[in-house]
Amino acid sequence: MSHSPAAEDILVTEVFSAIQGEAALVGERQVFVRLTGCNIRCAYCDQPEALEKRPGPCRIERTPGRRDWQLLDSPLPIAAVADAVDALCRRLPHHSISLTGGEPLMQSARVARLAELLSAGGRAVMLETNGTLVPALKRVAPWLAYVSMDLKLASVDGEQVAPDVQQRFLRVAIDAGLATWVKIVIGPATDVDELDRAVSMVAVLAGRRGPGRSGRNDGPHRAAGAYPELFLQPVTPFGAVCSAPSPEQVLALQERALRIYPRVRVVPQTHKAIGQL
Ligand code: SF4
Repeated sequence: MSHSPAAEDILVTEVFSAIQGEAALVGERQVFVRLTGCNIRCAYCDQPEALEKRPGPCRIERTPGRRDWQLLDSPLPIAAVADAVDALCRRLPHHSISLTGGEPLMQSARVARLAELLSAGGRAVMLETNGTLVPALKRVAPWLAYVSMDLKLASVDGEQVAPDVQQRFLRVAIDAGLATWVKIVIGPATDVDELDRAVSMVAVLAGRRGPGRSGRNDGPHRAAGAYPELFLQPVTPFGAVCSAPSPEQVLALQERALRIYPRVRVVPQTHKAIGQL
């Protein structure tokens, strides 16, 4: 028996309101739509229940931040997910909507429809992505405001992600005029040569667009087509990962990255520091 969802349905794990804990929009209140399924398996992944792309239980928060869940079965109609987001936004102003996962682009046609509905309702939509599914990004890009893209290091993630694919992905996001930033998770065993190559790739793409090497931090709300900011995120121990990088390692890795590219900030997972989802 097929478990494929109908075209108007989407595999979703949860919808809830929370504080964005990572990268450029850290501290902003967002509605998170966690989509089900991921095409890779990072060693530190903290969403193991969202990795398999299949039907299952899901939960939708009724009141922003209260965790008063409505328990449902996924997949859900795309319009129902958009309605759930709207219901949370009507009760509390939110900065934007985070489409996260898993890897949202695993369901790109459905995610495009969801993003279109949210965008039509006046919501700014952010995509949190592992940066590996280039054609899928092209499909969803018209409905996005922000892209938070991971650059994967095999020495930290334990996954082999082709650097040329990640480069193409970043190029598509920049060329689409989306406010885009890049996040690299760093750990105790970060291969510095691998980090150098990843940072250099961002620098080359930024250079392709002209200057932007002043070192000034313009934040995420810069003009379309501007330069991606780079975030180093010290890994939070979880799953197969038992330790975080030392403070000395974090300083040294940022210094290394700054010598290649001037827009490098270190931001740990602040939502975990305050015990949030
Ligand atoms: S890309 Fe994200 S969701 Fe997928 S395995 Fe890695 S950390 Fe988990």
